[in-house]
Amino acid sequence: KPAGKAVSGASALATLGVTISSPDRIVFPDLGLSKQALAEYYALLGDAMLTDMAGRPISLVRCPQGRGKACFFQKHDSGMFPDSVRHVPIAETDGKQEDYLYLEDTAGVVACVQMGTIEFHGWGSRVADLERPDRLVFDLDPDEGLGFDAVKAAALLVRDRLKAVGLASLPMVTGGKGVHVVAPLVPDADWPVVKAWARSFAEALATERPADFTATMSKAKRKGRIFIDWLRNQRGATAVMPFSVRARDGAGVAVPLTWAELAEATSGNGFTAADPAAVLAMAKRRKTVRASKLPK
Ligand code: ATP
Ligand code: MN
Ligand code: MN
Repeated sequence: KPAGKAVSGASALATLGVTISSPDRIVFPDLGLSKQALAEYYALLGDAMLTDMAGRPISLVRCPQGRGKACFFQKHDSGMFPDSVRHVPIAETDGKQEDYLYLEDTAGVVACVQMGTIEFHGWGSRVADLERPDRLVFDLDPDEGLGFDAVKAAALLVRDRLKAVGLASLPMVTGGKGVHVVAPLVPDADWPVVKAWARSFAEALATERPADFTATMSKAKRKGRIFIDWLRNQRGATAVMPFSVRARDGAGVAVPLTWAELAEATSGNGFTAADPAAVLAMAKRRKTVRASKLPK
């Protein structure tokens, strides 16, 4: 790792004024990646993350003892976070109010890392307009044994079908096995409408291409197919945020790509937190597409 890259992460972290306790603790044993290195990664990528993540209720995957030890999903405020990690009361489906977390700045992102966070997941809407999602996401989950080429082909098909109804989309490799196809929405339709639309889109695809797709979660029905997970498009569901590190071996990173870049990709986890400069370079050349209204 060239010294220059490490220095810029370190200086980005230094300017945030967040103290990292146990900086030498190894978070990723397979890579020897420390908590300090993870904090530097997020100090460097935080601003790019917040383009998408700012104002979204988030869930964190926290692994206080490092990857491979006990990890847990946290979606509610525990009262343990500093003020840079904001909270907002949200009514759950049962009517009870719960405090959810959201972030507005990189100091907040790094404060979460200080608390043992590895992964960041976000809602499909933001606190300012909670009931109207600003994105659709189709999470493509391949059955074991299916190669990444099959995932890429599936993503292209989803893109083409979205385009046919007027929705522009971009792919994101998840840092794991799959790809998310994301279509920005003008916040207009509310959650029940968006969920129903996503479901019928996925079911139509599975009906038309039964050899390649399933729209039901059941692992038994996945045999040799790709599960087009439309359930990310419901109130309270999350998807991994762009540039989040994954709590998996290799410290893969979720990276939004252009369709041309996806064509060159050979796996869902080709980017890693061990090479922040490469991820930052992707963030700098990131393209966006226009947000559209959900079609009728
Ligand atoms: P991969 O490409 O390997 O499938 P992924 O991020 O898409 O990576 P999934 O298991 O398909 O992983 O999950 C999709 C999304 O659902 C995640 O990004 C996460 O936001 C959410 N999710 C998954 N598991 C949980 C969980 N136990 N609790 C809350 N949300 C979850
Ligand atoms: Mn997935
Ligand atoms: Mn999934």
